[in-house]
Amino acid sequence: MGHKKVCFECRKAFNLIYDFNVEQSMICPDCGNPAVFLNHKFRPPKKQDKKGWELALFLKDHGFYFQSAYAHIVPGLYLQVPYPSSIEEAKEFVTKYKRL
Ligand SMILES: [Zn+2]
Repeated sequence: MGHKKVCFECRKAFNLIYDFNVEQSMICPDCGNPAVFLNHKFRPPKKQDKKGWELALFLKDHGFYFQSAYAHIVPGLYLQVPYPSSIEEAKEFVTKYKRL
């Protein structure tokens, strides 16, 4: 378990080393812009995969940090749902699962 530090400017993900003696900086070491922490489940797209990064940014901007998402089936029953693989799917996904 853990997080990845992700810079959307550089389209790069850095693995975080958990050391409580070291303060984790939210700054990208490459470009100096603010980076974000995403769940370790985040699979960074290839640098040239513009659509993949746009999709990740869209999800992040809607509060989906690649933590598991769950669908509410009936009271008390939730099923884990996979993350979308296209922007079209993502638009539906964020409205459907935003509240969870
Ligand atoms: Zn950067």
